[in-house]
Amino acid sequence: MILVLEKNIKDNHLDDLINILSEEGISYNLIGGLRKSIYVEDTNLDPSFLGDYPGIEKIYGDNDHFLLSSRDLKKEDTIIDIRGRKIGGGNFLNIGGPCSVESRESLLEIGKSIKESGGDILRGGTYKLRTSPYSFQGLKDEGLKILLEVGKELDIPLVSEIVDPRQIEEFMDLDLIQVGARNMKNYELLKELGKVDIPIILKRGMDSTIDEFLKSAEYILVGGNEKVILCERGIRTFEQRTRNTLDLSVVPILKDITHLPVIVDPSHGVGIRKYVKNLSYGASIVGADGLMIECHNDPDRALSDSMQQVSLEEYGKILRNVRKILDLNIYGD
Ligand code: PEP
Ligand code: MN
Repeated sequence: MILVLEKNIKDNHLDDLINILSEEGISYNLIGGLRKSIYVEDTNLDPSFLGDYPGIEKIYGDNDHFLLSSRDLKKEDTIIDIRGRKIGGGNFLNIGGPCSVESRESLLEIGKSIKESGGDILRGGTYKLRTSPYSFQGLKDEGLKILLEVGKELDIPLVSEIVDPRQIEEFMDLDLIQVGARNMKNYELLKELGKVDIPIILKRGMDSTIDEFLKSAEYILVGGNEKVILCERGIRTFEQRTRNTLDLSVVPILKDITHLPVIVDPSHGVGIRKYVKNLSYGASIVGADGLMIECHNDPDRALSDSMQQVSLEEYGKILRNVRKILDLNIYGD
């Protein structure tokens, strides 16, 4: 059971609540973020026991610890507004950009082209989490500076991946913050992101089940940040011909059980440039709320993930065809 507390709960009301739980011998966990919540582990507890206790905004029942992201709790789709670009509830969001920010000139060229193609958000990795320490590690703070400059010049919202809770301050000027697959289970990072008022793109870990994915989202939601976008980016299977196995089946399942927007990253999902279009079309057909596609002005020379980045022309073509698919409105009346 979760007791979501009022945003400005008075200290004495919080103390009273904690005292009453302690006196009754009920184990609980105080969770702090943009707002405080109390997680009560006793599943047999009758919520009316707390009645209209001052300071409690809402009491949620237990559902295998998957509460705030659940469609049972909130029937309607969560719609997130990113400077006028919406996602969720029938709104489709296109995120494009290079795997890594490499230079101001190339990012400017990429960003301009993405805008012209109808892309909504410019992505660019700055602090890169690479499997090998010998691979390009990103331009770090310099990359973030370039990203912010280009975003301002083109007036396009931005996203980049955070890798450490100590970077939060540095990421506050972005429009979205990405948590990569390797950090989906970095619970300390997720807790900190629950305290910020910026939408989070949470990527599915390559070895994570749907339930583990949603429980990670809960870490952010329970802290008070209700703007979470789930991203399928492929999981690890026995298949060797693709970088990962893009699990498009999670899209309708997630859309069924959670109200959060769901996007697909076909680039890391398949890892092979020429198949990115097919999987983008597939994602649009299975009901995704958006796409994150890696594209580059010179993909063969990209400093990271060169094999999977599509050209700017190809990106434009993919977006045009995705629009046609969405116009079919196959899930409409
Ligand atoms: C990325 O989007 O650049 C990235 C590293 O993705 P993932 O975390 O899915 O591997
Ligand atoms: Mn990449």
